[in-house]
Amino acid sequence: MKLVTNARLAGRDGLHDIEIDGDRFGRVAPAGELAGTQPAGAPDGPGDAPGGPADPADGPAGASGVLVDAAGGLVSPPFVEPHVHLDTTLTAGEPRWNASGSLWEGIAVWSERKADLTRDDVASRATEVLRWYAANGVLHVRSHVDVTDPGLVALDAMLEVRERVKDVIGLQLVAFPQEGICSFENGPELLEEAARRGVDAVGAIPHFEDTREDGVRSLEIAFDIAQRYGLLLDAHCDEIDDEQSRFVEVLATLARRGGLRDRATASHTTAMGSYNGAYSYKLQRILARSGINLVCNPLANLCLQGRFDAYPKRRGLTQVKEMLAAGVNVAFGHDDVMDPWFPLGTASSLQVALVGIAAAQLTGAAEIDEAFAMVTDRAARVLGLGDGYGIAPGRPANLVVLPASSPYDAVRRQTRPSHVVARGRIVAETPPAVTRLTWPGRDPEDVDFVRTRDR
Ligand SMILES: [Zn+2]
Repeated sequence: MKLVTNARLAGRDGLHDIEIDGDRFGRVAPAGELAGTQPAGAPDGPGDAPGGPADPADGPAGASGVLVDAAGGLVSPPFVEPHVHLDTTLTAGEPRWNASGSLWEGIAVWSERKADLTRDDVASRATEVLRWYAANGVLHVRSHVDVTDPGLVALDAMLEVRERVKDVIGLQLVAFPQEGICSFENGPELLEEAARRGVDAVGAIPHFEDTREDGVRSLEIAFDIAQRYGLLLDAHCDEIDDEQSRFVEVLATLARRGGLRDRATASHTTAMGSYNGAYSYKLQRILARSGINLVCNPLANLCLQGRFDAYPKRRGLTQVKEMLAAGVNVAFGHDDVMDPWFPLGTASSLQVALVGIAAAQLTGAAEIDEAFAMVTDRAARVLGLGDGYGIAPGRPANLVVLPASSPYDAVRRQTRPSHVVARGRIVAETPPAVTRLTWPGRDPEDVDFVRTRDR
């Protein structure tokens, strides 16, 4: 038995200690109430572990059984990435830069790069970014994988990666028909073959299909495969600045009538940023009744959308505030890390939350907390993690320790986790970053960007 001590937990007053029994959480109690714990800052005493000495193989726990002293920092369930493309990651500039910056040129550039794809190429780039995710405390990741490739090279590579990282990161794979289902040769067969090979979810891209009817048909095919194979569904939906692109109403209705409901997700839905008020109002009811999730990807879509606009240029994002208010579950995703659609990124959920706050104008105190939930709890709901997520007895012992006083503080100061615990083991540690300021005429001082009166 080991302990994470002196943890600040969202929604609870005071500090708490958290038991970790193997790879599961045990009890959570006010600091000092569990046997063998000590207040923050006290030296570790030998031999006072509640369940015997820590297993050295389980991380650098001291003799006291304290795995991590959170020292009053915010302890949160890990970050969750609800939407990324790991097969395309780290390819920005290959074979050429996306000069127009549009989604469509991105697809064309990727189509050229795809011709050179090998299993090792995909696996090594995806694994590198998954290590960045783990370092940032992101321990659940949903990745789309392009299956419009007759060889399914990327899919086989990602299935292998999913197995290789499972002790640290829970990786979900979505069969993503990048170039369409009905508009690509053997599209339906490739999608079904991906389901057979073991993906977790089925995707679609209705706004990319040649006709409106093909778009609707492509969603029907995706739902049919998801239901026959017992899989989740996550479609790229209405990722275009065209107010006529209205496939999310089709997706939501198929999810409600077929019973998939919160096991279905519409990603991007950027056309919602162009819908008129009357249609938006109608859509809120359709989405709320259906129970589907929405994933907004602010980093990529702020860059990709509005490319064909003169000024004023639209934001090109889904209706985050309005859909949250209507009771729809909305999460924030990264989408792309250094690829033809978005050239930047370090796989940081806090960076996504910060940009999401600015992009969706979530500046109220409760809205900032909501933005943190959109990269933790709400994203976990998108992945359908259920009892596999959260700090509570019996659940997998996954958490992050943030050197911050609140979710607001963590987002504002972009604090990297001091510790990341996966399945009961410390997998990442980041020493606090402190800047020494030497102002002429004053003694040197350390600056950590905490407001003096908040200390
Ligand atoms: Zn995407």
